[in-house]
Amino acid sequence: MIEIEKKFQVVSFDAIRKQLADESFDVMEEFPPRVQSDEYFNHRQLRFELQDIALRIREVDNKHILTFKGPNRDATTKIRTEVEVELSAEDAEKMTQMFLGMGMHSVAKVVKNRATTLIRWQGANVEVCLDGVDEVGYFVELEIVADGESEIPAAKEKLESLAEKFGLSDSITTSYLEMLLQSRGQM
Ligand code: ATP
Ligand code: CA
Ligand code: CA
Repeated sequence: MIEIEKKFQVVSFDAIRKQLADESFDVMEEFPPRVQSDEYFNHRQLRFELQDIALRIREVDNKHILTFKGPNRDATTKIRTEVEVELSAEDAEKMTQMFLGMGMHSVAKVVKNRATTLIRWQGANVEVCLDGVDEVGYFVELEIVADGESEIPAAKEKLESLAEKFGLSDSITTSYLEMLLQSRGQM
């Protein structure tokens, strides 16, 4: 699957929460806020950060999810191939052992509280994520998952018009991991 995502920094979620509740948004599902703890791996020679490749194990609701994200292919929107596998806690530990054994290292753990609302916008399913990221700040992410390349341009436009509707401007492409490392003075 292909992840198409836009990220915005905000000072609070009040305005967007209000809009989701008041306005004519077609809300399909509202998920309770969940803590996601993401451990990112990297390799000194492969240097995933240069292409925005991601390899991580996420822990959420006592579930473990291994995620690979391919190189980013856009300047203003994050567009990446995403592959996810659910692992048992035991297998997550084994996977970590394998990564370390291959010469990878754990970069950092990004912990955030994410409240997700699934809405219908211009015929597409859009995930609206309100993220409170430890040590970093508050962000809104808008995401469409596409099955094929041909869907990308329309999805990008839909995210842009939705952002405008929410009054969100100045999207950023910096990842939470980079922001965390910056705030810790490790970048
Ligand atoms: P998701 O959208 O999958 O829920 P997220 O919103 O929690 O993820 P993002 O900020 O969208 O987090 O992505 C985190 C990103 O960190 C990864 O996609 C990866 O490309 C990136 N990354 C940045 N720097 C590094 C690094 N030094 N080593 C490994 N990965 C890195
Ligand atoms: Ca995403
Ligand atoms: Ca994201």
